[in-house]
Amino acid sequence: MIRQHKPLLNSYEIRLEGYPICTGIAIGKPFMFNWVDEQIHDFTIPSGQIESEVRRWYQALKSSRRDVLTLQKKLRKEGGEEGVKILGAHLEMLQDPLMTVQMEEKIRTAGKNTESVFKAVITEYEQKFHRITDQFFRERFKDFQDITRRIFGHLLANEKCPLSEISQARIIFAHELSPSDTAEAKLEYIEAFVTRSGAETSHVAIMARSLGIPFVTNVNFPNTIHCLPHVVIVDGEKGIVILNPKPKTTEEYLEKKKKLKIEVHYLSSNKEYSAETIDGYRTKISINVEMTGDIDAIPTRGGEGIGLFRSEYLFLAKDTFPTEEDQFAVYRELVEKVNGDPCVIRTFDIGGDKFGNFHPVQYEKNPYLGCRAIRLMLKERAAFKTQLRAIIRASAFGEINILFPMISGLPELLASKEIFEEAKEELAKEGFPFSRTIPIGCMIEIPSAALTIDLLAPECDFLSIGTNDLVQYSLAVDRNNPSLSYLYKSSHPSILRMIKMIVTEGRKANKPVSVCGEIAGDPLYTALLLGLGVNEFSVAHTALPLVKNCIRNLCYVDTVDLAQKALTFATAEEVEIFLKQEYAKMQAQFPSTLD
Ligand code: PEP
Ligand code: MG
Repeated sequence: MIRQHKPLLNSYEIRLEGYPICTGIAIGKPFMFNWVDEQIHDFTIPSGQIESEVRRWYQALKSSRRDVLTLQKKLRKEGGEEGVKILGAHLEMLQDPLMTVQMEEKIRTAGKNTESVFKAVITEYEQKFHRITDQFFRERFKDFQDITRRIFGHLLANEKCPLSEISQARIIFAHELSPSDTAEAKLEYIEAFVTRSGAETSHVAIMARSLGIPFVTNVNFPNTIHCLPHVVIVDGEKGIVILNPKPKTTEEYLEKKKKLKIEVHYLSSNKEYSAETIDGYRTKISINVEMTGDIDAIPTRGGEGIGLFRSEYLFLAKDTFPTEEDQFAVYRELVEKVNGDPCVIRTFDIGGDKFGNFHPVQYEKNPYLGCRAIRLMLKERAAFKTQLRAIIRASAFGEINILFPMISGLPELLASKEIFEEAKEELAKEGFPFSRTIPIGCMIEIPSAALTIDLLAPECDFLSIGTNDLVQYSLAVDRNNPSLSYLYKSSHPSILRMIKMIVTEGRKANKPVSVCGEIAGDPLYTALLLGLGVNEFSVAHTALPLVKNCIRNLCYVDTVDLAQKALTFATAEEVEIFLKQEYAKMQAQFPSTLD
């Protein structure tokens, strides 16, 4: 953090530093998501702004009154007479001189922000109420707490509103976000995410990337962010958040935003070309898809199909497993969208940090090492078969591939294939049309799978390396824990060696190997992965033009040398420095940006 941020309502510019997760620039208003009344900051208000604080107070009272009246109306309709009476008491409290003239006077004399004045007042009342033993007054105290919470909600510009109910474009500030928070978000209104805690390969980060939403994490923003009436700038490339920007800064960023748009447009112009190196080595590039909302709107940006559909996102916003028909409709739409190209559907990878509104898994202390993905689906056999049936049925409409996540060894792969065979048999008997040659893929994201790749490769049709988890499980570092991010290194020599091993065994068994983890979309790793012999890059669509541009400006023979050299380093840091140097050299040679 560059500067302390207490008196937020003052108009000077404040720059906060964080960690960039998803590139892009957003300029907009802040919205505090999932406010918790942990700390109400108290700060001095310049005398010229006192009137606006008083107005804010009355506005909060007015909004609270409106809420209570609406609730009363609803209860009256439903015959909840007791509730109507209680809410009547709330309305009275809102008109109490304590809430009106006395509060106004206190705001004026204290010269402090409204929340802190209100907090001081209610703390005083709470103490008084605690001394009363009469049951009647104790009940009144509950009402008092209820209404104060409502007023705070309005003052803090957050009514515990889920992201699905946001109706204006906003920059979302949150302590942390979960994949299901974002799964229900109205994305057209989300301009950027800023969180206190988060990590590069978390599923929220993956979603933000696939949606092209700028995202900065590890930002120590003030709880009073909602008091900021003006503009916030989020720089997702540098990991900077600017509060109250000066007009000059806003101008600068508007200019940067424009330039970025031109750059994206320029890179996207390689849409028609294949992912082929200068010396004619042909590789494949496809997209990762997480969302299920508007499939038609997913830009394919010249990719060769969908390399990874994270089907569990169908489950995240639901209260049960989705039905066969619901799933079939989505899978069919997906495969039709790619129009002749393959579509890899990964079976539900539920668990870890991805849970829906219902937990099919019992509470576990360590969900990443618990009943996740294929382990869960092999227990939930009926739900697994339902999903496989839906996928198989969609194969009548295009080239579908099935991918099993979190395979730790041969028995899980064989058990999954058995259910797949059963599903096919059932569908054949029921007379459904489907392809008899659906390729089966195995995700390699657990070290035990990497180390037994010679056993797994012959049993499937393709291999897909999930580096996000492979790094997590190999290095024993929680991928979502920002305090350990210095240990979460995709450039670790063990990861490079494992990729090499997987590719070697894949070649022996004549099975293509793709990488669908986040490094596939990171241009720093493009030459390395090519040189290690990876056949396909499955990336966020936002990363596709840049990665393709890199591939098209590389010589395959050079990348083989680069990979060999990278394999000689002893530490992740050395590999990273080397990759950065090589990328800088590469950038100097070809126009990846318009700088
Ligand atoms: C991975 O682990 O690299 C992967 C692609 O799967 P996910 O990120 O969904 O766990
Ligand atoms: Mg994974």
